[in-house]
Amino acid sequence: MGETKYIFVTGGVASSLGKGIISSSIGKLLQARGYNVTIQKFDPYINIDPGTLNPYEHGECYVTVDGHEADLDLGHYERFLGIQTTKANNITTGRIYKSVIDKERRGDYLGKTIQVIPHITDEIKRNVKQLGNKYKFDFVITEIGGTVGDIESLPYLESIRQLKWELGRDAIVVHLTYVPYLAAAGELKTKPTQHSVKELQSAGIQPDILVLRAEHQLSVNLRKKVAQFCNVDEDAVVQSIDAPTIYEVPILMQEQKLDATILKKMGLPVGDTPGLGPWRSFLERRHKAEQKPALHIALVGKYDLQDAYKSIREALSQAGTYNDRKVEVDFVNSEKLTEDNVAEALKDKAGVLIGPGFGERGIPGKLIAAKYAREHDIPTFGICLGMQCIAIEFARNVLGLADANSREMDAKTPHNVIDIMEEQKSITNMGGTMRLGAYECVLRPGSKACEAYGKEHIQERHRHRYEFNNQYREAFEAAGMQCVGINPESDLVEVVEIPALKWYIGTQFHPEYSSTVLHPHPLFLSFVKAAIENEAK
Ligand code: GLN
Repeated sequence: MGETKYIFVTGGVASSLGKGIISSSIGKLLQARGYNVTIQKFDPYINIDPGTLNPYEHGECYVTVDGHEADLDLGHYERFLGIQTTKANNITTGRIYKSVIDKERRGDYLGKTIQVIPHITDEIKRNVKQLGNKYKFDFVITEIGGTVGDIESLPYLESIRQLKWELGRDAIVVHLTYVPYLAAAGELKTKPTQHSVKELQSAGIQPDILVLRAEHQLSVNLRKKVAQFCNVDEDAVVQSIDAPTIYEVPILMQEQKLDATILKKMGLPVGDTPGLGPWRSFLERRHKAEQKPALHIALVGKYDLQDAYKSIREALSQAGTYNDRKVEVDFVNSEKLTEDNVAEALKDKAGVLIGPGFGERGIPGKLIAAKYAREHDIPTFGICLGMQCIAIEFARNVLGLADANSREMDAKTPHNVIDIMEEQKSITNMGGTMRLGAYECVLRPGSKACEAYGKEHIQERHRHRYEFNNQYREAFEAAGMQCVGINPESDLVEVVEIPALKWYIGTQFHPEYSSTVLHPHPLFLSFVKAAIENEAK
C-alpha cells in the first residue's frame, strides 16, 4: 500500500467507554478489506507494565507470545483480528521514561537537558512509528489509554499533534465520547462531547471522526449539531449504541460506514464493502445459541471482578457459541467456599473452571472445589494456579499426603508437589521475571488433551513462577492423574489429566489468551462440549 497509515483513538468525557472495542472494530473492518493491520495501546501510568498490578486495579494481565505482560485490551485486539501482538503493542509511560532515562545515562543525548518535549514525545513517536517502519503494517491503530484532560495524557496528545502535522492525511484521530441521557429532562446531552472536543482542540488536535457512545439512538439532528460544534463532517459523527455483545460492534460501525469514512479521509480508494462472512456466521450462531437455556459453568476464583478473568470469560463464551450454547459464567468466590456449602455452590453447574491467581488467599476454597468436582465427576478445567490446585488436592486426598502444598503457599511443606523453579529462587525483582510467553509442549497421544487439540505439538503462553515437581510424577501417574503434556526442553509438566473421569484437565499454561472469535481454543471447545454432555445426563 505504500506508506503506513496511523489512526489514533482517544477518549473523552468518561473512562470505560470501550475504546479498545472501537479500536478493534476499526481494525477488523480494515483487515476485512485486505489491509495488514495492528493495534497498539499506550497506557499513561508509571508502571513499566501491568504485570505487577493487582487485578482489582486493572483487570486481568494479558500475556503476548513474546512474553510481555500487557493490558487486557491487547486480548480484544487479538480476539477480533486473529493476530498476535508483541511487546511493541503495549507501551506505558513508565517504559517511555525508563527508555529515555537509560539513554540519558548512556550519554546518548550528548549533554542535552532532557525534557518532556522533545525527548519524551520523541520516544512516544518512535514507539508509534516503529510498528509501521519495522513491521511494515498498512495501518497502525494506536489507542491512548485514559481520558483527554488527564495530566498524564498530555505528552501523548502532544505527540499525536506533532505526528498529525508531520504525516498529513496519513494520520487521523478518532475521538470517542459519551452522550448521556438525562431521564428527568428526557433528553440526550451533547455538551460533555463538545467540551471534550474543545479539550482536544486546546492541545492542538482537531479530531477527524467522532464516535459517540450512547444508551439511546441518536437522531440525525443531534449528530448534525455535534458535527457543527466540533468542526467535524456530518458523516464522520458515528454512534456507538450499547450492543448485546461486543462482537456486534464491527457490524454496527460498518453500517455507519466508519471504515469508508476513514479511507476517504486518508485518501485511499473506498471500493466495495466487505461482507464479513465468517464474522456474521459467528454472530448468527451466537444468536441461535442464545435461544436455548444457558449452560452454567462455575468460575472458581478470588477476584470478584468481571475484568479479572476477561480472557477466560471470552474463551468460554466463544466455545459456547461453537457448541451452540450460551455459556453463563457463574463466579464462585473461593474465599467463601467451604466443605459445607460446596455442594450447594456447584450443584447446578455443568462444568467447573478453577482460575489462575497468586498467593494464599482463597486456596482452601479452590482445593475444596477441585475435590468436589473430582469426586462427583463434573468436567473440570484448572488453569495455571487452578492446575496447581488440582494437583495439590490429588496429592492430599488420593496420594494421602495430607500436607502436600505449593511452596508459594507454604515454603516449608514436606510435600512440595508444586515447587519454585531453580532459576526463580534468586529473583528479587518482581517485574517481568516469571516464566512468561509461549513455550512448546508435547502431548501424549491418546490423552484427552491431545484429542482436543488434534495434534501432539503445541505452543501455549505462560505466566507463573511455580511448577509441578517431577519427583512426584510417578506417584501421580500410578494413582490415576497423568502428566500428558511435557515441555520437551525442560521436561516440565504442562498438562495433567485424570483419564478415568469425563473431563478433568489442568494446564500450567494459559490457553485462554489464544482463543479468538474465528479460532476458538480447542481445549475450551472440548471442555464446554464435555460440560454439555454432563448436563444432559
Ligand atoms: N501463582 C502461581 C505461580 O506463580 C500461578 C500463577 C498463575 O495462575 N498465573 O506459579
